[in-house]
Amino acid sequence: MIANFMMPSISLASDFEEWMAGCALSFGGKRHSGEPIPNREFLPGNAWKLFEQEPRPTPAPESPISLRQPFINQLTPPKGDFSSGSSTPSGSPRARSSSGSSYNSQYPIPPAKADPLFVTEFFEVCKSPKGGYGAFATKDIEVGTVIMSEEPAFRATFGEVFYMYEGLTTEQRVEYRSLHGWSALAHNRILSIFKTNRFELSGTRCGIFLKSSRFNHACHPHATCTYKWNEELGQMVFTSINPMKAGDEITIQYCANPAKLYDNYGFYCDCPSCPDPTKTAAQDRKRRLGW
Ligand SMILES: [Zn+2]
Repeated sequence: MIANFMMPSISLASDFEEWMAGCALSFGGKRHSGEPIPNREFLPGNAWKLFEQEPRPTPAPESPISLRQPFINQLTPPKGDFSSGSSTPSGSPRARSSSGSSYNSQYPIPPAKADPLFVTEFFEVCKSPKGGYGAFATKDIEVGTVIMSEEPAFRATFGEVFYMYEGLTTEQRVEYRSLHGWSALAHNRILSIFKTNRFELSGTRCGIFLKSSRFNHACHPHATCTYKWNEELGQMVFTSINPMKAGDEITIQYCANPAKLYDNYGFYCDCPSCPDPTKTAAQDRKRRLGW
């Protein structure tokens, strides 16, 4: 198990609960069991929806092996034939997807979401058949189109994460905490979110991009976008490298070696270049158990 928990100093942690969680883990051996759901009256705009849509984090199991079981369970396709995507209403943008650059996930497509998490000029973020949220094109997109350009919410080394997190606005904190955090990377959720979603920038610090973190992974050549840090602009720029149709999921390549995805992000790739993720998960588990 990777346990890089960083104990926040009192001077850096005005979030008392976070500090208490650190104390409990360091001195009592108990794990922080979850995050409080803020009173929606104090959250800006529709930010409270993030908490209603996201399930409360469940306490992580105690052993490195059992940590992965919930994810492996998720990989097991439900019974029934979903190959036709018939569970998707015909009016859903995803049901109209026909681009040669995209592919159909082997998993059932969830019902269309009436209210996406957020919408940009080129895409909307809603539930993805890959799990969690994903970005879906709302119009046809040609190769070479800059679909997203975003400044980091903060840049930090691992040791600076808590300090930088405290510098975020209330709305940014809510958005940050709604991101996926691979619990095997760190006991502390703020740190696990950072490790799971960070983008490498020039220098030693990594950046957190609250909107761009919603892009899911696909291996080359199936990834539909590439990304590059522009130091002059101070922004991460996402450019399409495959044509997309309205409804296609927009994907980027997290890393060139899909064998590293599980250890770094907690999932197995389901793109056409990769083996069946369900079988890969089972084989990987056997290998780790020494069977
Ligand atoms: Zn792949």
